[in-house]
Amino acid sequence: MQEQHAERRIDQFFSGPGARADDWRELVNAARAWKDGTQDRARFEGLLADIAATEEFHAYPGSRLMTELRERAASGDATGTLALVMRLTQALQTRSFRQHTSDWDVHGESEGEIPDLLPPALGHTGARRPYFEVLIVTGVPSTSWAGLAAEWRRLRRPVDSFIYEPVFVGSAEDAFCAAMLNPDLAAVIINEGFQYRSRHNAPVLRELTASIQSKETDSPLTLAQTLKRVRPELDLYLMSNQRVEELAGRPETSVLRRIFYSVEELLELHLSVLEGVQDRYETPFFDNLKKYAQRPIGTFHALPIARGKSVFKSDWIRDMGEFYGPNLFLAESSATTGGLDSLLEPTGNIKKAQEKAARAFGADQVFFVTNGTSTSNKMAVQALLAQGDIAIVDRNCHKSHHYGMVLAGAQPLYVEAFPMTEYSMYGAVPLRTIKQALLNLRAEGRLDRVKMVDLTNCTFDGHIYNTRRVMEECLAIKPDLIFLWDEAWFGFARFSPFLRPRTAMGAANDIEAWMREPSSAQAYDRQRAELGENPSDEVLLKTRLIPDPRKIRLRVYQTNSTHKSMSAIRQGSMLFVKDVEFHTVEAQFREAVFTHASTSPNQQLIASLDVARRQMELEGYGLVANAIEIAFAIRKAVAANPLISKYFSVLGADKMVPAEFRGSGFTDFLADGVNWGQVLRSLHDDEFCLDPTRITLVCGTAAYDGTQFKGLLASRYGIQVNKTSRNSVLLQSNINNTRSDVAHLIRVLAEIAGEIEHDLSQGGVNAVKAFDARVRSLMTDVPDLPNFSRFHDSFRADAGEKTNEGDIRSGFYSAYDAAGCEYIRLADAEIDRRLRNGPELVSANFVIPYPPGFPIMVPGQVITQEAIDFMRKLDVKEIHGYNAVQGLKLVRPEALARLGERRRPPAPRLRPADAAE
Ligand SMILES: *Cc1c(COP(=O)(O)O)cnc(C)c1O
Repeated sequence: MQEQHAERRIDQFFSGPGARADDWRELVNAARAWKDGTQDRARFEGLLADIAATEEFHAYPGSRLMTELRERAASGDATGTLALVMRLTQALQTRSFRQHTSDWDVHGESEGEIPDLLPPALGHTGARRPYFEVLIVTGVPSTSWAGLAAEWRRLRRPVDSFIYEPVFVGSAEDAFCAAMLNPDLAAVIINEGFQYRSRHNAPVLRELTASIQSKETDSPLTLAQTLKRVRPELDLYLMSNQRVEELAGRPETSVLRRIFYSVEELLELHLSVLEGVQDRYETPFFDNLKKYAQRPIGTFHALPIARGKSVFKSDWIRDMGEFYGPNLFLAESSATTGGLDSLLEPTGNIKKAQEKAARAFGADQVFFVTNGTSTSNKMAVQALLAQGDIAIVDRNCHKSHHYGMVLAGAQPLYVEAFPMTEYSMYGAVPLRTIKQALLNLRAEGRLDRVKMVDLTNCTFDGHIYNTRRVMEECLAIKPDLIFLWDEAWFGFARFSPFLRPRTAMGAANDIEAWMREPSSAQAYDRQRAELGENPSDEVLLKTRLIPDPRKIRLRVYQTNSTHKSMSAIRQGSMLFVKDVEFHTVEAQFREAVFTHASTSPNQQLIASLDVARRQMELEGYGLVANAIEIAFAIRKAVAANPLISKYFSVLGADKMVPAEFRGSGFTDFLADGVNWGQVLRSLHDDEFCLDPTRITLVCGTAAYDGTQFKGLLASRYGIQVNKTSRNSVLLQSNINNTRSDVAHLIRVLAEIAGEIEHDLSQGGVNAVKAFDARVRSLMTDVPDLPNFSRFHDSFRADAGEKTNEGDIRSGFYSAYDAAGCEYIRLADAEIDRRLRNGPELVSANFVIPYPPGFPIMVPGQVITQEAIDFMRKLDVKEIHGYNAVQGLKLVRPEALARLGERRRPPAPRLRPADAAE
């Protein structure tokens, strides 16, 4: 690809395949302009040359049609060129080339006449066969690729379940590019003898490969490692002339699905490719559920709705049957027999489905959960924490964590995220804060009591942690810490090579690989020597700490709401485990499952988790790239439209992440002058990044508060947004969004901006004044966000001096003692008197306003002036745990005094493992 083209679009690689459609649209426009005489042929040919380089990485249109296009242009046939380029663009857009032979023909005719060109779409069963592409990396000259492709096509058999086209490349760099840009690839066959360097000059690509692969080599094993890092879901095959038995024994070959000796039958390879895709295609639970639904079964069981008889025979509820269709009822069962397996103790196809999900998401174990990540979090907290254990918790995390701590009797040590006061939201917790908490515990000799660090990645508003760095530095202070990463929103990130290293499982796998390298222990020893015997806290806080790879016990948990970012039915969630000590907590996990999981889990939900995994393994790469591309399109369109950008803006990293956490100097994905090197450095090094698919649109500058604007978009335009803050709404692009969605959103924003403009110009001075005042109130008169104050001393009997943990469970149950509680209204002067003169106000329950959705007060917390000020300023209607008529529920001072007397520190628990440091 030409340098200019490659540099033109910073987002091209990030959003990979998504940008391809734009290139073709542009090419159509250039052809039309040439035909209409408004532009010359050279411009069309220039664009075609640009596009041709990357089109080599796709099976369609392929070299025959691309050559035809070039020749038509060269012959001066503008009309014929336009016709062909339009036809190709349409075939790509509608993906009809997967079914129609005519799309592959230069004249667009001969349906069915060139059998070696196109896959017959229908298999022998008459069902449409899924289509994919296979990348073949080879050293043979490109002149023989067409012949080789024909050979591959001859292997097709009507009984094959899938159909695929080969794509050839001759170098490692091109193979890398193809893997990045072609989402249809499902397998790669690496033959020895290829070049390292691409025929094309691509500086962006060089920067990217250098970040993943340290040396330039034509080694097939190095290429395999690199491809696995970019697209772990791809099946990799190696064709070797060497002694394959020797090769097969080397550990690096573990990334390969199979090694073939070059002279072996091509048919074997063909069958292996199909089998590899079949393995991902299989959904053990869903497949069995479909079979179950087909069988005639008489039920003498609960669940009358099963088989639909109570529905379809009824005059009164038949419409439900008609609405959902019979399969829903045929697939309903309360049985765990008939191969349906039990979610509570899976031994059959649920177990298999979970194992496949573990492979797909890079975990050792997966639990399917049918009650949302709310339940996954509570399960993890209960299984991993015992009474009295301390957990370092982001105070802004989802309420399931707080409630989990109550249930477990664990003591949360709350840490604060950095505030974004202007937008009434929080960012994420700085690593320094977390390290400080650990060092304080250590100074007090209580490091053994802290068991877990519990954080949200990414946050609601899109802040992504540097998961690897957080874990490494914490492990340097306490090598057996457990990490619970709530990735409710971030499950999809596994399928972007850019985001994956910042997921919990991605980072855990990277740390595990790092631990195996001999240089890691040396790095640790070197740092230890440099830091000396007893480095001060200040030194430890400012140093990027290296853990001792010989001591680390890597224990990482990740929860994700599969339903929030993938094709699972609402409440479908997964809990991922990568824990070398899992055997020590396995029984506790079983208890946690028994505590929280319904004994009647929903079959459709489990099936959807299985299917969501299949989809992500087979097309997740392209879908996620598309979601990112859509997000960039929205960001670009808002910024570029003069009318929209007058009243609305999308916040970039420069606004969402304070500069101290952006060491790379990165400002925003689409800012002027930001280049690839910076994007990569930011993703690799910065303490926090932004998830591009989470788009904070500021609407306060258009005189709308978040809730108002959300209502307007929903009621007038049928657009649903994710969440709101005082002056913004959060838009989220998803694997289901299309370009049309973007167009609709932009049109709506333009319309709203137009109306504002109109009203201001017609309304005279007063309208302008009122508008300005409203904007000022929304944008500058924002309440300070209150930090967590502290637990009341009655709940801190066994707590330390320098840390703020407390017994939230006792705080929670103090609310159950009606006589020990009192209510005071927010407006009551009594509040101000007590704040001034005591006795202290202590909350009896959680108070959680939506938005912003974090607890202003937790049970047992001392209420401060800041919290009261915030509550009084808060203009939202939904505040969980607060009834405006009754007022704040407080624990009476007498009850606190009694609690304080009763409380004694719990007896130290004798667990030798706790002594580890
Ligand atoms: C939504 C959410 C949850 C809860 O997940 P559900 O699947 O809705 O139960 C937990 N944590 C975070 C950060 C969330 O956004």
